Amino acid sequence: MPIKELNIFRRHGRQFIPDLRKVVLPPVFRGRPVLDAAILPAEAARVKELCPTGAFGTTDLHGVEGNAACFIDLGSCVFCRECAFALPEKIRFTNDYRLAANTREGLIVRQGEDSCISLDESRIRKEIRTLFRGALKLRQVSAAGDNSAEMELNAAGNVNFDMGRFGIEFVASPRHADGIVVTGPISENMAEALQISYDAVPEPRILVLAGADAISGGVFKSSAALRRDFTDKNPVDLYIPGNPPHPLTFIHGILDLLGK
Ligand code: SF4
Repeated sequence: MPIKELNIFRRHGRQFIPDLRKVVLPPVFRGRPVLDAAILPAEAARVKELCPTGAFGTTDLHGVEGNAACFIDLGSCVFCRECAFALPEKIRFTNDYRLAANTREGLIVRQGEDSCISLDESRIRKEIRTLFRGALKLRQVSAAGDNSAEMELNAAGNVNFDMGRFGIEFVASPRHADGIVVTGPISENMAEALQISYDAVPEPRILVLAGADAISGGVFKSSAALRRDFTDKNPVDLYIPGNPPHPLTFIHGILDLLGK
């Protein structure tokens, strides 16, 4: 090999991440939140007011007035950190990027909890692991996305993250895919196109919602321009939180779904 190319290789060093399961992101990364058990009702009400997507909420405990438990719904959270700025002693965001869940309930982080988010194994369809464990081809559909989640999904296949090493790749046609990954809040204009793309994937197929917009509508959830019945009509196999989701969040979620 010519000397010039060898020098380039030496200067660049190793480009890929050798073990994606062991990556530790810097502390500035906004990952899984932790809510202190001692958040007062007045503080919770203040944060609820601040939260732009309604991701921060409270549940009444035993119907007792003023006795409420706080939670953050990762399916709606855009990780703006307004809640943590308001209550820095009581709300923090860890650098844990393993946020994917296979139920909507699994995306709820409750007050006083500080444990990793994991998939509900009993809800994973058997055929997903028997058919797609060795290779999984996905078609990504941007349903009114803003190109942020789409860029991060692209990055999942780049030389750094290289999810292709696990046989996971995006393909051009839904007819060549095993499943659909949806990004964006699903506008009226994209609703039919999305359903057509999903129907074009041969069965059995998987459905992944990537990013707060796709999971809940995100900051657009009250917009009249959305038509989100797609997510009610079709069974969702995996929810990947984030705004946009980090490539590692996506890759870990898919690997967990496949049992790799
Ligand atoms: S970080 Fe999430 S929960 Fe906190 S204010 Fe922003 S959207 Fe709401």
